[in-house]
Amino acid sequence: MSTKKTAAPKLNLPRFRKVGDKHVVTNDHGAYVFMDDNQLQALVTGRVKPGTDMYDELVAKGFLITDTNLDRVAADYDRKVGFLYRGPVLHIMVVTLRCNEICKYCHASRASLEKTETDMSIATAEKVVEMAMRAPSDTITIEFQGGEPLVNWETVTHVVEYGSKLAKERGKRVMFSLVSNLSLMDDEKLEYLIKNRVQISTSLDGPKDLHDKNRFLANSSAYDKTVEWMAKINQAYVDAGLDPNLYHVEALATITKEHLGRAKELVDEYVKQGCRAIFLRPLNPFGFAKNTEGMVGYMGADFLKFYNEALDYIIELNRQGVEILERLAGIFLTKILTPDDPNYMDIRSPCGAGIGQIAYNYDGSIFTCDEGRMVYQMGDEVFKIGSINNMTLKDVVTHDTVKTIAMASTLDSIPGCATCAYKPYCGTCPVYNYTEQGNIFPQNPTNQRCVIYMGVQDRLFKHLMDENEEVKNIFYRWVEVKDRPEYMHDGRRMNQGF
Ligand code: SF4
Ligand code: SF4
Repeated sequence: MSTKKTAAPKLNLPRFRKVGDKHVVTNDHGAYVFMDDNQLQALVTGRVKPGTDMYDELVAKGFLITDTNLDRVAADYDRKVGFLYRGPVLHIMVVTLRCNEICKYCHASRASLEKTETDMSIATAEKVVEMAMRAPSDTITIEFQGGEPLVNWETVTHVVEYGSKLAKERGKRVMFSLVSNLSLMDDEKLEYLIKNRVQISTSLDGPKDLHDKNRFLANSSAYDKTVEWMAKINQAYVDAGLDPNLYHVEALATITKEHLGRAKELVDEYVKQGCRAIFLRPLNPFGFAKNTEGMVGYMGADFLKFYNEALDYIIELNRQGVEILERLAGIFLTKILTPDDPNYMDIRSPCGAGIGQIAYNYDGSIFTCDEGRMVYQMGDEVFKIGSINNMTLKDVVTHDTVKTIAMASTLDSIPGCATCAYKPYCGTCPVYNYTEQGNIFPQNPTNQRCVIYMGVQDRLFKHLMDENEEVKNIFYRWVEVKDRPEYMHDGRRMNQGF
């Protein structure tokens, strides 16, 4: 008989929150377990008995650390924060401030069409591409933003060609993404974008009356233009022999006060337009949105009511065989149900500002992120890092502002977040906190973004707790990673999350 004594397991810091009649208990690498009051008490007082199912589950999920699982738990944590090793993978180029639409909540503080001085020059664009190519990650995304990027078509096409050339020379993989209202699209531009595999995203704010109320297009309906081109683009992918399940226009909705009470109509509109995903994003109070907030804004609880109605409806549609996913849920569920993090810049700890993404304004000025640039457009330079003309990538990543924002978005050190059960899955936005609460650190629990994220995660965990296999299968479908190699500009594959 062996006399060797096994060391007592150590408790790996659990965080917990009551949802319904159970506790959601989580740990740093994102594993979770549901417990009743007695089980939780046994865990925190070290009384879970070896040999029980609960003990085995706690060891398997890394809540109890033993000699046998220590290395695996460390590896799981390392994998969960793998985004920290990749550096800035997302490079947002504001190729112009000019735009032909006027949106109620315009984030970009647009300029009118005659303001050609707000176009990014070819020389500046090349410098941006060169900086992006220095990122340590072998895969990067260059995203064209505005204003309306189609207004500065010359710079867009030059970046696609120059970026592809540089990517090949340097052994990088680069994906190009265009965020457009589509109203200036034409057949020639579409042919170029499809041929050069530029991913296309647009904004669709709902049925015609809602969309046109939020987005004004002179002498026409913004809605009509958007849906007309969405259909044409989707057909162009099919004509190019691409799988429409993978290659289609991505659409984003910005939820304003007008949407409240109309969740189902919004979802139905997305289904009608053939979308496979809808991203229900709360309004960002930046750019013009800050000035018009009274007109379009709302509190977190209002958003949650809307969100829950929409989510339940989307789940019901999936049950009936309509495949559509909600992206905010998809981001949280990927963190909850899989060993990976989708590297969504606004919901990670620390957030992506300067260390995961960089935004470049039309004149080459550099910002922590596009939201930081929007604050600048409102007259506040606090999130400006410098200029492409006299900075290296290392200067950007190690800039004091970037370091400060990383500290302010590292949840482990934030009161409220450090002890929150959702810390492993959540994120905070220093730009939002600054504009809404006057401090880059979130002031919980009155921070409305926290109210929204907590409510969304409560809802998702409630669904997981209900043990409904059909809903769980839908959730697992939503976290499947779908590679889209055709968008990669060297033909190699990538998995870069959302
Ligand atoms: S500061 Fe906010 S908007 Fe900018 S990357 Fe961080 S979370 Fe995103
Ligand atoms: S932001 Fe709110 S929900 Fe998220 S970790 Fe912090 S306290 Fe929890």
